[in-house]
Amino acid sequence: CGIVGAIANRDVTPILVEGLARLEYRGYDSAGIALLSAPGDIRRVRRVGRVSETAQAAVAEGVSGHMGIGHTRWATHGGVTEPNAHPHVSGGIALVHNGIIENHEEQRDALRALGYEFTSQTDTEVIAHLVHHHYHTLHDLHAAVRTAIEELTGAYAIAVMAEDRPDELVVARMGCPLLVGLGDGEQFIASDVSAVIGQTRRVIFLEDGDTARLTRSGVSVFDTG
Ligand code: GLU
Repeated sequence: CGIVGAIANRDVTPILVEGLARLEYRGYDSAGIALLSAPGDIRRVRRVGRVSETAQAAVAEGVSGHMGIGHTRWATHGGVTEPNAHPHVSGGIALVHNGIIENHEEQRDALRALGYEFTSQTDTEVIAHLVHHHYHTLHDLHAAVRTAIEELTGAYAIAVMAEDRPDELVVARMGCPLLVGLGDGEQFIASDVSAVIGQTRRVIFLEDGDTARLTRSGVSVFDTG
């Protein structure tokens, strides 16, 4: 339902929490955030219920990081449970998703045959495992996301980070809104401009088929061509 993310030289936890709070009006049933607290260490907090519960849990658990992604979920596949809340992780990959993956059943069967185990009932978890599968062979997060989305049908806005890539955030859009917010030495992503308006007024609205790679110093947008 709602996505916010940031890559910066400061703790982005408050940016994610504020962004999710600004997306609350759209409706949701659960929320979550994932922070890269150190290379190789992704911390995830998810809660059924209000954004404030996720925010309180994040404070209680002391999570922080200079890159992170957050999500408010409106369940379409799988019940309203904490294991179904986003972000979803696969190995060192963390991902949030708005929308619906139509071919999730055949993808789940193929990924199970490759040895992946599923911890949720969501269509989203197949994207996390698929990106992980391709990242394992390509060692390039943007290329892995592009390869993964070629195998998906449906509607999505996704944001992805990898535990061993502290300097990049990758996003993709097909059929669900997604924008990039440009800052000074820091960049943001969101499904709705209200989520990042407190940080920047310079935004790029992505188009269907676009992917983008964000680093602290800049943003590259790639179209389907
Ligand atoms: N289809 C996904 C799920 O059920 C994402 C729903 C959403 O857009 O929040 O988890």
